[in-house]
Amino acid sequence: MTNENNAELNGFAKLGITGALLKATLAAGYTEPKPIQVESIPAQLEGRDILGIAQTGSGKTAAFALPILSKIITLGTKRRPKTARALILAPTRELAVQIEDTIKILAKGAHISTALVLGGVSRFSQVKKISPGVDVLIATPGRLTDLVREGDLVLADTQWLVLDEADRMLDMGFINDVKRIAKATSKARQTALFSATMPAEIAELAKGLLRDPLRVEVAPQGTTAAEIRQSIVLARTKQKRKILSDMLADEAMRSVIVFARTKHGADRVTRDLERDGFEAAVIHGNKSQNARQKALNGFRDGSVRILVATDIAARGIDVPGISHVVNFDLPDEAESYVHRIGRTGRNGADGIAVTLVDPSENAKLKQVERIIRMKLPVDADHLALPDPQRPAGEPRYEPANDRGDRDERRPQGQKPRGNNGGKSKGHFAGGDRAPGGAPKGDRPFRGKRRGFGGRKQTTRAA
Ligand code: AMP
Repeated sequence: MTNENNAELNGFAKLGITGALLKATLAAGYTEPKPIQVESIPAQLEGRDILGIAQTGSGKTAAFALPILSKIITLGTKRRPKTARALILAPTRELAVQIEDTIKILAKGAHISTALVLGGVSRFSQVKKISPGVDVLIATPGRLTDLVREGDLVLADTQWLVLDEADRMLDMGFINDVKRIAKATSKARQTALFSATMPAEIAELAKGLLRDPLRVEVAPQGTTAAEIRQSIVLARTKQKRKILSDMLADEAMRSVIVFARTKHGADRVTRDLERDGFEAAVIHGNKSQNARQKALNGFRDGSVRILVATDIAARGIDVPGISHVVNFDLPDEAESYVHRIGRTGRNGADGIAVTLVDPSENAKLKQVERIIRMKLPVDADHLALPDPQRPAGEPRYEPANDRGDRDERRPQGQKPRGNNGGKSKGHFAGGDRAPGGAPKGDRPFRGKRRGFGGRKQTTRAA
């Protein structure tokens, strides 16, 4: 075992972390580096770009933050007004807040200044905070773009750029903002891009932004953590409310996130839970930043047992000790299933994930099973639909009258259809988005707007 007095034996010291940072890292209880930290910290200290395929929970925040903080400490130069030495872009406000919290802990005693730039909250205080210049700025792309355009922030001095959860930025329509922001930073910058998945657009983005990056992958794409027990409950949509309430009567469900596909769905689930005698908090893109943070804080400190969330609002939430994830319905994007269930089973603790599946969601279930490369077992305790008396691996539903069976019979290679008859472009259509395609309060460019250079340009949400 290592401690502060023999820090030279500490794993982080071996990676090249020294002084106040090493002390703060140890004080934070990080005794041994996680694999992503072992692989990426030395390379970044040597100045290399990083392409990290990793989810929240892997330890990626410290993996990118510690090298940046180490380098900032040794800089010695003065900050210029309205500049940021390092910029960390995150898709959601919750993730940005979480990153700043982690950085403050890791940089304790190192005299590093941090600031947050987020949509949905007062702009004035953000402008004030960055006006003398900051060491590390953590931002969501929409508000950051506004500040740059208005001249309240200059990125030319930004030597470190991190894109966190890049795939989610793509989903949320921020990709053009991200490219524009990256272009405004220093040409000599060092860049790290982290993404849980690597769709073609992100691979393309990485190619454009990273120079000879070290690729670090901590879990194979689309796989789920081994310690999460997963199952499905077969249920008609109208039966789901009762099943959920029956499940929650079990006190072993200590700390539960219930995922709903849309914000209206999340509100309805919350209302129904309250009518059934449960206290629940809800977070989704229509809630104010304060309401979201309050719900999250309550969930984190244990005063709220049940948190109902949409995918986007829940993205990046890192609350230790979540015992159960319940998917009230399946997400539009199969990969979101992996993110959802990853909220539990963290830091080696056991987790349980249960998904309620209506026959109309059969095609989505198949997509999920394809990317997690396993067949999800049926939870016999909560069998709401008659067991179709088929051996495991056979289609679960009688094809007769279920809407979903059309998907079951689609020819191989044909794209699955969403609930809206195939018109959906995926990416949470109709869910947690403002009409422009982004969460309220932090939306990407739409229509005619001035770019950073003052030139008129036309951009559309991705
Ligand atoms: P992240 O993936 O950055 O969101 O980190 C997930 C969780 O792991 C956070 O709660 C961190 O505080 C924690 N963590 C990160 N690195 C370490 C480490 N080396 N030792 C212990 N905990 C860690």
